[in-house]
Amino acid sequence: MTATFGFNFSDTYSQLPKDFIKKAELYTFKNAQHQIFNTSLAVSLGLDQNAIKESNYIFANGNNLPHGSSSIAQAYCGHQFGHFVKLGDGRALLLGEHVTPDQKRYDIQLKGSGPTEFSRGGDGFAALGPMLREYLISESIHALGIPTTRSLSVITTGQPVFRETTLKGAMLTRIAQSHIRVGTFQFASLNGKDHVHALAEYTINRHFPDLKNQGEKFEGLLLRVIDLQSQLIAQWMSVGFIHGVMNTDNMSICGETIDYGPCAFLNHFKQDTVFSSIDRNGRYAYGNQPIIAHWNLARFAESLLILFDEDIDIAKEKALSMLSLFKEKYMSCWVGLMAKKIGIENSSKIDEKFINDFLSLLEKHGADFTSSFRNLNNLNQLKDSLIHDDVFVQWNNQRINLIGQENMSSSQKMMDSINPCVIPRNHLVEQSLDDANNGNLETFHKLLSVVQHPFSMPENPMYLEPSSPEYEQSYRTFCGT
Ligand code: AMP
Ligand code: MG
Repeated sequence: MTATFGFNFSDTYSQLPKDFIKKAELYTFKNAQHQIFNTSLAVSLGLDQNAIKESNYIFANGNNLPHGSSSIAQAYCGHQFGHFVKLGDGRALLLGEHVTPDQKRYDIQLKGSGPTEFSRGGDGFAALGPMLREYLISESIHALGIPTTRSLSVITTGQPVFRETTLKGAMLTRIAQSHIRVGTFQFASLNGKDHVHALAEYTINRHFPDLKNQGEKFEGLLLRVIDLQSQLIAQWMSVGFIHGVMNTDNMSICGETIDYGPCAFLNHFKQDTVFSSIDRNGRYAYGNQPIIAHWNLARFAESLLILFDEDIDIAKEKALSMLSLFKEKYMSCWVGLMAKKIGIENSSKIDEKFINDFLSLLEKHGADFTSSFRNLNNLNQLKDSLIHDDVFVQWNNQRINLIGQENMSSSQKMMDSINPCVIPRNHLVEQSLDDANNGNLETFHKLLSVVQHPFSMPENPMYLEPSSPEYEQSYRTFCGT
């Protein structure tokens, strides 16, 4: 019998109508090699680390799958840059749903695992740089307290992948509460009411069991996802995170950040910052993210319409009234977070404009987003031109008045707990990936350990330095496909 490695698989997804999944075979990588393994995540999942270590961290390969696993590719659709496409796991496989000792259910997914029926023109494989990038940025987002899929391991496959150049092949093991996407509902909707009904029931059972006994549970599902996404996007915005490819297939129903392709954090603040090489019109620019989330949620609502009412006009009316809540929900999360970032505990003391006034000042002076918030009470650490701007002086006086002298020290504590010192700076990310591609993972490990503690001052001040404006100007990220 093959080893379990501590995985306790229990499949539920295959209860859905059969075309939601396609069986696929995990490729056998003959010269797979360990690159990185997330020990603390493995501990929290209750995995058998000794067995995993004994296998040289190659716990899933075509000729050797953990006991009880299956390998399935999930079907989904998606609006990619606004265009509807039929998709599915083209380079990923679901190994199974692992139930932890404390009864939490997680998808264990392999990314870069070989071709499937959904590979379309692609080879089904992934390269080392993008897989390590996903590992690093998802760990950073997790440490910042933002819901996200996690990364358990990266191995190299020993097999080259051919992109613009020849690259080292790699496979990531991704842990997610599930891989149900807005695009999964779009797929269901394409296949008719029974599919939508089955998926909606499944999603409610798996993620939102409290809705089960509610009268209008499908409406409840839409409202819940609107809630989760408004919180998630507000959190991204509050740390300067740009997802980069917010297609509907990359929006998770359970509210986790998913699919780390061309994502990056902004440094010098600019609302229209775009790093992704394929986002030529800035659809997924930093400042557009809330609008796009709303657009994606409208696609989600469309696929649920059939469950809201037999009468399509009534169904649409319901969907529109629920969707209209997004802006208010998002704004209240965003103002709440941003108020804390400037030291104001009670966000009702300020409005959206007060935050935007500060952001406009950051943009006008080309100031770094992360350190400007972290050092807001340390004027000598802020950009010179900013602190000499009368508009800033006035704004900051107003801010200090709102906090009140008596609350200054608790306000500072709150600011230190919400404003990170460290985010993965773009030039450092690229340096660490270049070194890793050349066989040296030391830079990567050092950067990883710093971004895993974003609220602690790192020993080496280089981790605090923003990427230069010139670097940012020409910085391009890629989907890694
Ligand atoms: P992504 O940009 O990672 O969200 O991928 C979008 C779609 O393209 C998904 O259906 C992927 O499975 C598929 N895809 C991405 N890269 C590859 C690849 N190398 N081979 C096959 N399919 C891929
Ligand atoms: Mg994707």
